[in-house]
Amino acid sequence: MNCLECAGECCKRLAIDIDEPEDEEDLEDLKWYLYHKWVSVYRDEEGDWCVQFETKCKHLNEKNLCKIYEKRPPVCKKYPAEKCEMNNDNDCTEYFQDIKDVDRYIEKMKKEGKLVNGKIKK
Ligand code: SF4
Ligand code: SF4
Repeated sequence: MNCLECAGECCKRLAIDIDEPEDEEDLEDLKWYLYHKWVSVYRDEEGDWCVQFETKCKHLNEKNLCKIYEKRPPVCKKYPAEKCEMNNDNDCTEYFQDIKDVDRYIEKMKKEGKLVNGKIKK
């Protein structure tokens, strides 16, 4: 999809890298993010963990165009449209929207023998 045909999806959220959870306590701590509205956590196809905030940039106008296009920050300039969510089939390997998703993940990890004595096996 061409950016001019898109509703500016990448400007409606932001994601920040977080440390990969190493133990059950780290997984439990993910719940803190999820107690907040419009916040989710995911692990992407490359194995990186992120916290995502569904919040629209103040500079996106009503036509879904950037109001400060010439002065937009480098992170926006460098964002690769060919890899964005609209142009890429790659999905997250894990997605947490609710604390129940964390509990399910902990149980799954235990059943699969990947979470033993509170530690995540690498
Ligand atoms: S980079 Fe992707 S999500 Fe962002 S405006 Fe362009 S097509 Fe839309
Ligand atoms: S500054 Fe412009 S390009 Fe960057 S997120 Fe905001 S609206 Fe999008």
